[in-house]
Amino acid sequence: MSAYDVAIVGGGPAGLTAAAELARNSGMNVVVLERESAAGGIPRHSDHPGYGIRDMKTCISGPAYARRLVSEATAAGAEIRTSTMVTGWAGERSLEITSPAGREHLDARAVILATGARERPRPARMIPGDRPGGVYTTGHLQNTVHLQHRKVGKRAVIVGAELVSYSAVLTLKHAGCQTALMTTEYPSPESYAVFNIAGRTPLLGVEVATNTRVTRVIGKGVVQGVEIEDIRNGQRRVVDCDTVVFTGDWIPDHELARSAGLDMDPSSLGPVVDTALRTSRRGVFAIGNLLHPVDTADIAALDGRHVAAQVRRYLGGAVTPDRGIRIEAAAPLRWVAPGLLRPGDPAPARNRLLLWTDHLVRIPKVVARQDGKVIGRKTLPWPASPGRVFRVPSSILDAADLGGGPVTLSLG
Ligand SMILES: Cc1cc2nc3c(=O)[nH]c(=O)nc-3n(C[C@H](O)[C@H](O)[C@H](O)COP(=O)(O)OP(=O)(O)OC[C@H]3O[C@@H](n4cnc5c(N)ncnc54)[C@H](O)[C@@H]3O)c2cc1C
Repeated sequence: MSAYDVAIVGGGPAGLTAAAELARNSGMNVVVLERESAAGGIPRHSDHPGYGIRDMKTCISGPAYARRLVSEATAAGAEIRTSTMVTGWAGERSLEITSPAGREHLDARAVILATGARERPRPARMIPGDRPGGVYTTGHLQNTVHLQHRKVGKRAVIVGAELVSYSAVLTLKHAGCQTALMTTEYPSPESYAVFNIAGRTPLLGVEVATNTRVTRVIGKGVVQGVEIEDIRNGQRRVVDCDTVVFTGDWIPDHELARSAGLDMDPSSLGPVVDTALRTSRRGVFAIGNLLHPVDTADIAALDGRHVAAQVRRYLGGAVTPDRGIRIEAAAPLRWVAPGLLRPGDPAPARNRLLLWTDHLVRIPKVVARQDGKVIGRKTLPWPASPGRVFRVPSSILDAADLGGGPVTLSLG
């Protein structure tokens, strides 16, 4: 059995940044446990620019960003164990791990869960029809193209029109596969206007079918087409393609959090944390897209920076206040993270609450209510759009009574 000061589960941007921050000049022994053969998380196979903007003040490709995160964590003195999967708990802060060396237990004084999020695959979306090959999520597609260097088809339909969907367009283009159509159930694409406009240029030439859902996948052996339905009038048509990519529709990689019996948020499906990123188990913290499925990599990384100071306080003997009030989201807002506010705790990372909306609101007026009273309001200059995290300054909670009832955030 090995013993560490801090064990971090997941070597993506969140986990690696936390590791670098905690190991740097601290004398602490910090280990990152990563199930893949290399650390770096999703950016490792997301081979296009757009990474590192807020945390590294640069804009580089996913693989370059992943390499830099790994080298910073290693240079700081953190140990990174790859091909090492955490499969369960042997105690409050004792992990069961499986690696090519076999099975063992690993004890730590503090554990940080940074296991990320994944896109729901086709079976989880309950799309009827045949079960041919050639059906991917973006993550699976990028793994196939950029890590395994395998071929995909020639003509694709992408289900979803959010940021990650355009990432799929770029990967398909790189692989010589044309995107025949992008579909979204929303009345307008969820991505930023700049991506939607770029998508329509001759370079990418992507047509987006809005108010559309996929009703059937067709093909024996390989995909031959998908049947799509116009949600407004029920009209259906078949689009010929040999590749289908299901994008977005995120779910946290929350199995370890659930098997620990941590308090879970029923809407985000991630663990509930306070603004110090503590979960409901003492000494177990959670960061990154496990909490907010999904925000960009720099935001996940900055969670890692935020949690490091809190883990240090915990290891130094700071006591967690036992009182706290829940922060909740009302429709069309689906979830909010962090979900708990305690007296004496720091503001959340970047002084932002992260929320998800199910409807587009172009000029959102966010209202915070507690015990029937309005305690804060903010009109934000950026839209609340489905398919991407909606960030709200945490000062909206400044007037919250920490001895009162839950605070609810809604769009007024
Ligand atoms: C296709 C695509 C394109 C994107 N494009 C951009 C972009 O241009 N710019 C940007 O900023 N963001 C982008 N993102 C988002 C970005 O990749 C994520 O925000 C970021 O990777 C989240 O970091 P994370 O550390 O929370 O999780 P992840 O990167 O998902 O890392 C989690 C890690 O935990 C490991 N793990 C999980 N469970 C276990 C376990 N039990 N034991 C051991 N290891 C485990 C996983 O293998 C993984 O390496 C994109 C995402 C996708 C899917």
